Amino acid sequence: MTVQTKHFIEPSDIIAVRIDCNKCNASVSLAIGKELTLNALAICPNCKRPWLKRGDASIDLELQKCIEAINAATTALDGWKESSKAAAVDGFTFRLEVKDDLAQ
Ligand SMILES: [Zn+2]
Repeated sequence: MTVQTKHFIEPSDIIAVRIDCNKCNASVSLAIGKELTLNALAICPNCKRPWLKRGDASIDLELQKCIEAINAATTALDGWKESSKAAAVDGFTFRLEVKDDLAQ
């Protein structure tokens, strides 16, 4: 017998975005749903090594887009859930499947 376990999350399950420095293992965790003032993420706050090849580049903009996309998905799904409920429609549940080793 083979047993397969699958793991799913909903966008609302995502509570933070975490960045780990590959050099020193320092981490920066940014809470989802909170106001962010992103700047100076071009380098690791601990070892001060650049996180991107270009010295003046920063991950701020793309990170902000990622966090906004998660927030937008959560907001849209909440809105659809409420409108389905109000219209007495069964609706749906949106989930993301994650790797088995990520769920442990
Ligand atoms: Zn570092």
